[in-house]
Amino acid sequence: MRIILLGAPGAGKGTQAKLICEKYNITHLSTGDIFRMNIKNKTTLGVQAKEYIDKGQLVPDALTIQVVEDRLIKEDCKNGFLLDGFPRTVFQAEELNKFLQSTNNTLDVVLLIDVPNEFILERNVGRRICSSCGRSYHIKFNPPEKLGICDFCGDKLIQRNDDNEETVKERLTVYKNHTHPLIDYYWTNHCLSTVDGRDDILTVSKNIFSALDT
Ligand code: ADP
Ligand code: AMP
Repeated sequence: MRIILLGAPGAGKGTQAKLICEKYNITHLSTGDIFRMNIKNKTTLGVQAKEYIDKGQLVPDALTIQVVEDRLIKEDCKNGFLLDGFPRTVFQAEELNKFLQSTNNTLDVVLLIDVPNEFILERNVGRRICSSCGRSYHIKFNPPEKLGICDFCGDKLIQRNDDNEETVKERLTVYKNHTHPLIDYYWTNHCLSTVDGRDDILTVSKNIFSALDT
């Protein structure tokens, strides 16, 4: 299965991506996670990306597309993949289409997790992520069993640099201007399916699974 997850920042893409990839045995590709790992390891890509991410802006298309294409040719994507946070611009979507065509692949579904703006600030500001595996928690909606510790790998939970009020507002503006148009793009080009992202995590995943299984 080849899936794109669309949705505003904090809609729940990363959270649902983990559950979907586990159930369907496909590879989770999050451009945000890849950039954050590069920032942590102080690679050239990380240094370049950090400049944009900390301001809530998009990393330039050329850099981002290269990262995704390099990843999609790897063996673990042969059985299927889920793209989380990519594409984020119509140009990225067009380049992805060309790439998939060149490798004789097609998308099965583009899934939009629909969450109204008034949910976004609290979801992002209350988010904590694992410093090793990147898993998302929330201080109120999805707390870990032990305060500040990842349930899966036992490592420390941290707050993302870009999960502060000012940067979240900028990310939301960027979403509206650059990423939201993808809803129309995929509505006309591909099979777009929408789930209500206001529900609790398990209800959203139940609805996603029934959309994917039909
Ligand atoms: P995205 O990957 O779309 O930016 P995340 O999956 O990281 O979003 O979720 C953002 C925050 O909201 C996290 O703190 C997560 O635990 C929380 N969250 C995710 N889904 C829900 C939900 N359905 N209800 C409440 N909180 C949620
Ligand atoms: P995310 O983890 O998906 O919330 O992404 C965090 C940040 O990484 C975004 O705010 C962007 O700065 C950058 N980023 C992630 N994916 C992309 C993308 N497809 N295009 C451009 N920038 C991206």
